[in-house]
Amino acid sequence: MKYDAIIIGGGAAGLFYAANAKINNGLILEASEAPGRKLLMSGAGQCNLTHGGSIKDFIGHYGPNGKKVRSALYKVSNLKMQEFFESHGIPMTERDDGKIFPESMRASDVLKCLMHLASANGWKLMTGCRAEGIKLLEDGFLVNGRHEAEKLIIACGGCSIPSTGSDGSIFPALEALGLEIVPLRPALVPLTVQDYPYSELSGISFKNALVTVDGHRNTDDVLLTHSNFSGPGILNLSRYAKPGSTLTINYLGKEQQLEIPAAEKRIIQHWLTDSLWLPKRFVEAVLARAGVDPKTKANQLPKKQRKAIEAILMRDTFSVSGTTGFKNAMVTSGGVALNEVDMKTFEAKKIRGLYIIGETLDVDGDTGGYNLQFAFSSAVCAAEAAGL
Ligand SMILES: Cc1cc2nc3c(=O)[nH]c(=O)nc-3n(C[C@H](O)[C@H](O)[C@H](O)COP(=O)(O)OP(=O)(O)OC[C@H]3O[C@@H](n4cnc5c(N)ncnc54)[C@H](O)[C@@H]3O)c2cc1C
Repeated sequence: MKYDAIIIGGGAAGLFYAANAKINNGLILEASEAPGRKLLMSGAGQCNLTHGGSIKDFIGHYGPNGKKVRSALYKVSNLKMQEFFESHGIPMTERDDGKIFPESMRASDVLKCLMHLASANGWKLMTGCRAEGIKLLEDGFLVNGRHEAEKLIIACGGCSIPSTGSDGSIFPALEALGLEIVPLRPALVPLTVQDYPYSELSGISFKNALVTVDGHRNTDDVLLTHSNFSGPGILNLSRYAKPGSTLTINYLGKEQQLEIPAAEKRIIQHWLTDSLWLPKRFVEAVLARAGVDPKTKANQLPKKQRKAIEAILMRDTFSVSGTTGFKNAMVTSGGVALNEVDMKTFEAKKIRGLYIIGETLDVDGDTGGYNLQFAFSSAVCAAEAAGL
């Protein structure tokens, strides 16, 4: 049987597409036993759909490819996305940090809404079906030698958390069609470093730390885990990190001199803990690394030791050894090269009728709703262009 269109991938982008496109005869092929598994875990099950503020401010949140996604984001903005969900009975709420969620704080409500709309629009869902072969026909596509369609929409995500079904299995088929694939790497992922010194401090976090990876800067929260650096300040720069990269953290968020008053009576350990609001166990570790006796009177601290403490607090520098890999990564950096598609319609330039949307493309956003927003924007642009 020939379909008008097949969407490969029943994740966020595929379902956003189907929810926005009426069709007589459409099929969603999904590798997992159930669609939307990653959507269900997004925002810790609460689904941070997008971010507040001007859409102009989104561009800086997609790394080096930000400018290339501008037209799709401007056309289908964060406001459009909110209007879409609100018009379908999912009111939205914006948190103080700008993240936008469904008011119910349940990703499952978003998934139910999308599934309902996709079905009402005429799309059938086939689960447990991994697409591995795509053949070009004169007037369409043949998937796995069985499913024929006039138009084909690739919405297979990347490789992060492969147990969700997004396992990168579509990329060999896309490569075989002659599409360039930018090497796939984990992103929004914790960074491991040589000689990690904070194994005993798991759970300690810093608000608005200044993080630098090979010159790329970002101010956001940093979390110490038992084996790596995590938290949004680290995750958002992980796309730039490779083994040997230099990671620098300023836990205080800005460069400053430790001004210890001459009349200060406390020992250095207490002074640092009290005046900089730093966790006691972290201060102990910093002093040990700086070779400073924690019981030294703060006002008697030699300049050299003060400088050593300052260097750790404000310029703690590490050589990156790697990341914790795809099993922990929230997104994938790399994917179908953006020069392969028209970034207004998401149609492949070389293959008419083939559309590629969402994380399968070489687009990865920061934490904060930017990835689901791109999935939505690219899906709606493609649906309108495909005329479905
Ligand atoms: C833990 C976690 C939390 C996150 N939280 C947020 C958040 O709050 N806000 C945000 O904006 N982003 C978040 N993200 C990122 C966001 O979920 C993804 O960027 C988004 O889901 C990408 O949508 P997609 O449809 O392109 O890919 P996916 O959602 O990964 O969907 C791809 C689908 O295609 C299917 N598939 C793959 N290969 C094949 C194949 N060969 N044949 C058939 N089907 C196939 C998969 O099973 C999957 O269902 C989070 C990610 C993770 C892992």
